[in-house]
Amino acid sequence: MRLSQFFLPTLKENPAEAQIASHRLMLRAGMIRQQSAGIYTWLPLGLRVLRKVEAIVREEQNRAGVVELLMPTIQSADLWRESGRYDDYGKEMLRITDRHERELLYGPTNEEMLTDIVRTFVKSYKQLPLNLYHIQWKFRDEVRPRFGVMRGREFLMKDAYSFDLDEASARVSYNKQFLAYLRTYARLGLKAIPMKADTGPIGGDLSHEFIILAETGESQVFCDKDWLDLDVLDKAPKSAEELQSFVDWATGFYAATEEKHDPNAVPIPADRLHSARGIEVGHIFYFGEKYSKPMNATITLADGSTTPMHMGSYGVGVSRLLGAIIEASHDEAGIIWPEAVAPYHVGIITMKAGDAASDAKAQEIYAALTAKGIDVLYDDRDERAGVKFADLDLIGLPWQIIIGPRGLEKGVVEVKNRRTGQRDELSVTDALARVG
Ligand code: ATP
Ligand code: MG
Ligand code: MG
Ligand code: MG
Repeated sequence: MRLSQFFLPTLKENPAEAQIASHRLMLRAGMIRQQSAGIYTWLPLGLRVLRKVEAIVREEQNRAGVVELLMPTIQSADLWRESGRYDDYGKEMLRITDRHERELLYGPTNEEMLTDIVRTFVKSYKQLPLNLYHIQWKFRDEVRPRFGVMRGREFLMKDAYSFDLDEASARVSYNKQFLAYLRTYARLGLKAIPMKADTGPIGGDLSHEFIILAETGESQVFCDKDWLDLDVLDKAPKSAEELQSFVDWATGFYAATEEKHDPNAVPIPADRLHSARGIEVGHIFYFGEKYSKPMNATITLADGSTTPMHMGSYGVGVSRLLGAIIEASHDEAGIIWPEAVAPYHVGIITMKAGDAASDAKAQEIYAALTAKGIDVLYDDRDERAGVKFADLDLIGLPWQIIIGPRGLEKGVVEVKNRRTGQRDELSVTDALARVG
C-alpha cells in the first residue's frame, strides 16, 4: 500500500482524553476514532490489526474443533425472559423497541440465543458433543466506558458454547478451550495467566479468567513467577489423553485475583509470589444446566429418557486484545507490533522527497516485497524525513527500510528493526532477505 493512497489520520499531539498508553497510541496512530462514549470507528490501520487478531482467534477455535456460525447482534427479549436473565441483567443491557412495540435488545452475550438454536435441531445424544462459536459485536452499556477499546460499550467478542451429554464430557470441551486459549494468547505474543474465577451461584470450580499483566490493568492479581518464566506451549499435550493432565498442570500454579487471594494462605514461597495489575482478556465457564433447564434444551438418551444438556461458554475480548497487546508492547515513540498481528510487515521510507534515484529504489523494493506476498506500507508522501520516521515508529511496523541518496551511492539501504532498534546498512538483496 502506498501511504499517499491510504487513510492514516495520525495525530501529533497526545489526545487529552486518553489516560493509558494503548488508548493514546491507538488514537495517535490513526487506528480508531470515538463516535460516542465507548463506541468506535475502526479506521483502516486499526481494522487491519483487528482482522489479524480475529484470524488467530478463529484459527485456534477451528483447530480445537469448534465450529463457526454467525448470530445476529439484535436479540428478542422473549428468549431472555425464558432464562430469567431479562430482568437480572440490569442497566448494562441496551433495550430496544421496534415499530411493532416488540422488545428487542443488542446482545451482550449469546447463551440464550444459541441454546434456542440448539434445542430446535439437536434432540438425540448421538448429536453431542457440539461446540459452536461466533465472532460478533456485543453491546454492554458500561457505567464507565474508558481506556479506549479496553472497556468499550460496543466491542468485538469471540464467544463459544459447548453442549454435552454430561459433566465428564463437558469437562473435555472445557479443557479443549482452555488449551485453545493458551495457544491463542501465545501466538499474539502475550503471556496469559489462567486464574480461577468465581462461578457465582452455580458453584463448581470450572471457571477461569485469562489475565495479561500490565500496569494499567483494572484488577490486582497475584501469581507464581514460575508461570511467567516458562513457555507453556512446550508443555502442550500431544494427544487427547494428555489434555486433562496438561490442564491440571497448568492450573496447578498459584494464580488469584484480589478477591480470591488470601495473603495468609499462599501455597508458594514469598519470593515466588508476583503481584501486579491485570487485564481480563478471556473467560471460560462451565455452568451445567443453568440455561438448558429453564429453556428446556433436552436430549433423548439411548434408553429413551431425557436430560438437559450440559453447557459451557467461552469468551475472548477480541477488540480489548488490541489494547492489551499495545500495553504489553510499546515504547516512547509508539507501538511495537508483534509480527503476527502487525498491520504491515515492512514500512519503506525515502529520506529525500523528490530524489528520483531514491524513488526508483523504493519502488523496486516495494514491488519485490509485494511479489513475495509481504504486506508493505510505502511512505511515498511529500513530507520531511522526520515526519515519516515519527509516523513509522508510531504505527509500530516490525521492519523499516530507509532509502537515501548517500546510501544509494554506496549501494546500500538501511534496515531497522522496530523492536530492538538495531539498524544495518545492507545491499537491497540482503535487505529483502532480512525482512522476508
Ligand atoms: P470485565 O470484568 O472486564 O467487565 P466481564 O467479566 O464482564 O469483563 P465476560 O462476560 O467474561 O466479561 O466477557 C468475555 C470477555 O469479553 C472478557 O474477558 C473481556 O475480554 C471482554 N469484554 C468484556 N467486557 C468488555 C468491554 N466492555 N469492552 C471490551 N471487551 C470486553
Ligand atoms: Mg463486565
Ligand atoms: Mg470480569
Ligand atoms: Mg469475565
